[in-house]
Amino acid sequence: MRDIIVQKFGGTSVGTIERMYKVASHVEREYRKRRGVVVVVSAMAGETDRLLNLGKSAVENPPEDELDVLASTGEQVSVALVSMILRAKGIKAKSFLGFQIRIITDDRFGNARIIEIETEKLIKEIKNGVVPVVAGFQGVTRDGRITTLGRGGSDTTAVALACALKAGICEIYTDVPGIFTADPNLVPSAKKIEFISYEEMMELASLGAKVLQIRSVEIAARFKVPIHVRSTFSDEPGTIVAENPKHLREIQKIL
Ligand code: ADP
Ligand code: ASP
Ligand code: MG
Repeated sequence: MRDIIVQKFGGTSVGTIERMYKVASHVEREYRKRRGVVVVVSAMAGETDRLLNLGKSAVENPPEDELDVLASTGEQVSVALVSMILRAKGIKAKSFLGFQIRIITDDRFGNARIIEIETEKLIKEIKNGVVPVVAGFQGVTRDGRITTLGRGGSDTTAVALACALKAGICEIYTDVPGIFTADPNLVPSAKKIEFISYEEMMELASLGAKVLQIRSVEIAARFKVPIHVRSTFSDEPGTIVAENPKHLREIQKIL
């Protein structure tokens, strides 16, 4: 089995078709290293808000389960477009929604938790040289209802997949070059951090740093999968989130 890398791209990173080509170049670089690449994408920037507002404009208290059916469609658009662009580059990409893989969650609609991920189908595809492009943020209950994982939930999809597939690393591509001492968009003097432990990252996330959904860090910590938070718009290394800085050199070898 080839070593596996999971690459997740957030809303701004897939915000336009042009940006999706930049996304594709990161995928292509890892694919050409003969790695098994699994891509996770969010909805295009602003789409999830638009869809939720649309639901709220329809009725006063939209039912949570139907709101999830609605909100989850943002990611469906992204997986189709990114897969098309990858195929145009000669990469055998294939889109997957949460229910197609079977990312099983509980039934807390709007804020569901992942219980189990069926990996057989994905592993078979990876072995055949296919790059699965997976919709973030969504899952399915055991009885087949669509769920979403809470705002920022694509991070959790990516990390949970990395754990389930025993990936060496989970890359989180976003619109800032890594984790900073404070939100770089609010505090211009904030400094980029080279390494942060799971524990410190959970603290930062609980204080409201939405750069990683806190649940994704909890899962990474439990399964000891390193996360690399980096910019879609540069090739510079970002920030490693892992257990101990002693592991940093080892992790850098697989970047
Ligand atoms: P994505 O759409 O890629 O998931 P998010 O908007 O969810 O991106 O998260 C990235 C944003 O997190 C950045 O644009 C930044 O404003 C914010 N952020 C908050 N705190 C931090 C921090 N400590 N380090 C880096 N980014 C932070
Ligand atoms: N599209 C979802 C959101 O806007 C999930 C994500 O971006 O991670 O919250
Ligand atoms: Mg996010």
